[in-house]
Amino acid sequence: MPHSRNKEDAAPSDDYGWSWGEPVESNHTNVKCRFCGRIIKGGLTWLKEHLSA
Ligand SMILES: [Zn+2]
Repeated sequence: MPHSRNKEDAAPSDDYGWSWGEPVESNHTNVKCRFCGRIIKGGLTWLKEHLSA
C-alpha cells in the first residue's frame, strides 16, 4: 500500500485527470471521457492527449 503523506503539498500528477474522466470498471487501463463518453485506452496519459487534441 503506497504512502499518502503530504497529499496536499505534493500534487499527484495524474489526480486532476480524474476530473475529466472516470475509470472503466472492466478494464483499469481504460478511462471514460466525461465530455464525449468515449473510452480512452491507456489511462490518464492518453485521456489528456485526447482532450488536448
Ligand atoms: Zn472526449
